Amino acid sequence: MHTQLNHRMTKQRQIIIEELRKVTSHPTADQLHEMVRKRLPRISLSTVYRNLETLSSEGMILKMDSAGTQKRFDGTVENHYHIRCSRCGRVDDVHMETIPEIEEIARRRSSYQSVSHIIEFTGICPNCYSQSRG
Ligand SMILES: [Zn+2]
Ligand SMILES: [Zn+2]
Repeated sequence: MHTQLNHRMTKQRQIIIEELRKVTSHPTADQLHEMVRKRLPRISLSTVYRNLETLSSEGMILKMDSAGTQKRFDGTVENHYHIRCSRCGRVDDVHMETIPEIEEIARRRSSYQSVSHIIEFTGICPNCYSQSRG
């Protein structure tokens, strides 16, 4: 019984990771629930949510938690930069070199240690931009 339960959890987690890594849209828990349900029709939103929290605390996925918006999740855990649309909230990756030098600057000026950084640009996505041009 216990083994069966563990097995089911492992399978759910596996499918959640697989679905998340298929996309670059940085889905919310709701969106990911919709995707995962195609393969696990009975899975609940709270189960998806709980698995996402566990996976992100284990460093298997990235949780993007910015104030005032719904949490989004990312299958890419290596440091990379994001850009968020200020109109529709869409989030994309920005394919550019990360800038580790700024961590050293921040460390020296703040006297914090173990400094890391997250960069999120904002702008207007191509869809919103073309709509606004009518
Ligand atoms: Zn947009
Ligand atoms: Zn990303």
